[in-house]
Amino acid sequence: MDSLFSYSGGGPAGSDGDGFGDRPATALDALRTVFGYDSFRGQQAEIIDHVVQGGDALVLMPTGGGKSLCYQIPALVRDGVTVVVSPLIALMRDQVTALRELGVRAAFLNSSLGPAEAREVERAMVQGDLDLLYVAPERLVTPRFLDLLDRTRLALFALDEAHCVSQWGHDFRPEYLQLSILHERHPMVPRIALTATADVQTRAEIREKLGLLEARVFLSSFDRPNITYRVVPKKTERQQMLAFLRENHPEDAGIIYCMSRNKVEDVAAWLNSQGREALPYHAGLPAEVREANQDRFIKSEGLVMVATVAFGMGIDKPNVRFVCHLDLPKSLEAYYQETGRAGRDGLPANAWMAYGMADVVMLRQMLEQSEAGDSHRRVERGKLEAMLGYCETSDCRRQVLLNYFNEVLPEPCGNCDTCLEPVETWDGTVAAQKALSAVYRTGQRYGAGHLIDVLLGNSTEKVAQQQHDRLKTFGVGKDLSKAEWQSVYRQLVAAGLLTVDLEGYGGFRLTDAGVAVLKNQREVRLRKDPVQERRRGVHDALRRHTAKGGGGTAVSRAGARGAMSAEDDRLWHALRDCRTALAKDQGVPPYVIFHDSTLLEMVAQRPFDRAAFAHLPGVGGRKLERYADAFLDVIREHG
Ligand code: ADP
Ligand code: ZN
Repeated sequence: MDSLFSYSGGGPAGSDGDGFGDRPATALDALRTVFGYDSFRGQQAEIIDHVVQGGDALVLMPTGGGKSLCYQIPALVRDGVTVVVSPLIALMRDQVTALRELGVRAAFLNSSLGPAEAREVERAMVQGDLDLLYVAPERLVTPRFLDLLDRTRLALFALDEAHCVSQWGHDFRPEYLQLSILHERHPMVPRIALTATADVQTRAEIREKLGLLEARVFLSSFDRPNITYRVVPKKTERQQMLAFLRENHPEDAGIIYCMSRNKVEDVAAWLNSQGREALPYHAGLPAEVREANQDRFIKSEGLVMVATVAFGMGIDKPNVRFVCHLDLPKSLEAYYQETGRAGRDGLPANAWMAYGMADVVMLRQMLEQSEAGDSHRRVERGKLEAMLGYCETSDCRRQVLLNYFNEVLPEPCGNCDTCLEPVETWDGTVAAQKALSAVYRTGQRYGAGHLIDVLLGNSTEKVAQQQHDRLKTFGVGKDLSKAEWQSVYRQLVAAGLLTVDLEGYGGFRLTDAGVAVLKNQREVRLRKDPVQERRRGVHDALRRHTAKGGGGTAVSRAGARGAMSAEDDRLWHALRDCRTALAKDQGVPPYVIFHDSTLLEMVAQRPFDRAAFAHLPGVGGRKLERYADAFLDVIREHG
């Protein structure tokens, strides 16, 4: 088991083995020699410096921002063992695998280990043969473990996914409430708590519950500039999505979120029938199936996961290139979390959502039902309203999203659908009056389908039966198409001019605001649904990415592989195959060997020898040692 803990902190020539006494002298040394990166990102340098000096920190950084390095580097620089509290076994396993690949002495303690293995890890910890120990919170607070801690030389406590301490949050873990015991028993050991949770209440709760009121807070921007946001009106959602995937992501991995288990199964089966390999994931599947599907998703390239919200936390896969929503999430927090799983590696990624009348009706009904409400329900209402507002906005989506998290983006982003294809708005007052009048004159009982028939003057059976062809509104709406009327009704409901009955038939009633429109006391502005979905997204994003000098030409070409030269494309696939083979041999996910960004740089730079290879981002001493030859061979073959 010795090799598992081995650490070679030295330069590129470092090898397995000893590891003692050659800690990197500085944080920058560690970054370069162990992780193979040139410079720190964002606030990393500041945070690491603060923690290395022994300060407490609360780090609020979005997914993909680079939180892990904020404690992993202090763990290498400071003397002693860093204990990382992490809520999920899968997460610990991935992190430890990746660290060992880098030659770092890391291990985890959780219920997946047998007693003998666990004892071996405990021994290594007490003897100082580890730099990082990942541990589950329930294990951490046991008397046995607390006793081990007393006998260990400690460098740092890192509390990952710190929002798990929040009782209102989605991932509440009661054991997190007991973590303040660490500070009580070891007041001299610095602590760093980290989370990607963007909402203000949860942040306050973290500080209070974890006893971090004195800690320095490092708040990063929560913008994810590499994600392109899109919301399209639902027509034939599956076909729309498939077209989107074929156009933008023919070979990429991604996640598709659906509301119900049945829908997850249906959509996954349908995608497979369309020749796109997809797996289902929801809480109704047996644990073994869930685990096997998750494992396959992580270890292969190009697979699509169709899932309920049960899937996601602890998925560290950096090259998830798209996240699709076929149903509306229940809040913008949820939407932000779920879409945030795309593009952790910083390369362009897509967040795509289809949204239609049924979604609005459902959310509205949820709103009405929570009317009774105490303050908690009022909060829920506000969240649903914000979600609808995001869908219907004709402004920059990123501005709306960040604004919701109390962050101001001064200029429109240029990387969302409303920025890329500006939405027209129009004076919809007269159209709204016609639509509302149809509701009123038919007795406030019908949904959009029948009302549109009335407006268009369609002589359907129902129209005849109810004698609705005698109404004044019959046929007054021929100036708009059926699709346009659907859009009008959707927006009237979203804007609260109509409510939806709760019995589930989706009949509309006028609200006071709706009546005001009918009485000409109020104007209505509506957005025009885009006539045709344009096939865009990642390609344009990539072009901009390159224009800003974001990652060099290589990045842009490969993300938009259509635009890659045939030669580059062949090399890219050969490099991926090489990575897959190595990963399979070792039973690890491919991205643990090298990230896509490193492979893309290989395509761009075509390094021919080890010296050049060592300069690639993501190539540290240990990886140079282990993998340079295999990849150099591939590059030379394609020279
Ligand atoms: P988070 O935990 O905040 O979601 P990670 O720690 O997983 O983010 O980092 C996201 C990605 O960014 C990883 O692929 C990581 O290797 C990379 N990364 C982090 N810091 C740097 C850096 N300073 N230079 C280059 N890449 C970095
Ligand atoms: Zn925008």
